[in-house]
Amino acid sequence: MKIRVLRIVPDTIVDGPGLRTSIYCAGCAHHCPGCHNPQTWDFAAGTPMTPQEISDAVMAESPDSGITFTGGDPLYQAEAFAELAKLIKTAFPQKTIWCYTGFLFEEILSDEKMKKLLPWLDVLVDGPFVMALRDTKNLRFRGSSNQRLVDVPASLRAGHVVEWESGNEAAPFAK
Ligand code: SF4
Repeated sequence: MKIRVLRIVPDTIVDGPGLRTSIYCAGCAHHCPGCHNPQTWDFAAGTPMTPQEISDAVMAESPDSGITFTGGDPLYQAEAFAELAKLIKTAFPQKTIWCYTGFLFEEILSDEKMKKLLPWLDVLVDGPFVMALRDTKNLRFRGSSNQRLVDVPASLRAGHVVEWESGNEAAPFAK
């Protein structure tokens, strides 16, 4: 099982708290008007990499960073990303994993393939980008106000969405 990777960007500070390594995958069918990355929509773009190859690359480049899955939409390749997340969390349980998606948490939870990724995530930034709700000044880590920062472990325990609170930003690897 391979993931089509567009690029791996170390030490970014915009895709979640602290220093993070962002893994950009190819492919998104949401086609949100105003999307900042339409060049990532093509499912045939990028380089196919196994979860192990990506994990090795990430560890070699930024052993201390958190991890962010983005794209494109990683949920179209959820099973492979679940495998990648498992590798990362098994080797480095202290690393937090954030994931961006145009799907809603509830949609992911009701889909057999997509929901396999959820147990490995710390935060899911969910929902499509909506131009009319864009707020570049006040929103952190998301583009439009409909998007939620979902605390995934708390939401799975509660059975409904619990939003992430930014109290752990000073210690991005703490859980
Ligand atoms: S989900 Fe994200 S990548 Fe996909 S079209 Fe919307 S904003 Fe762009």
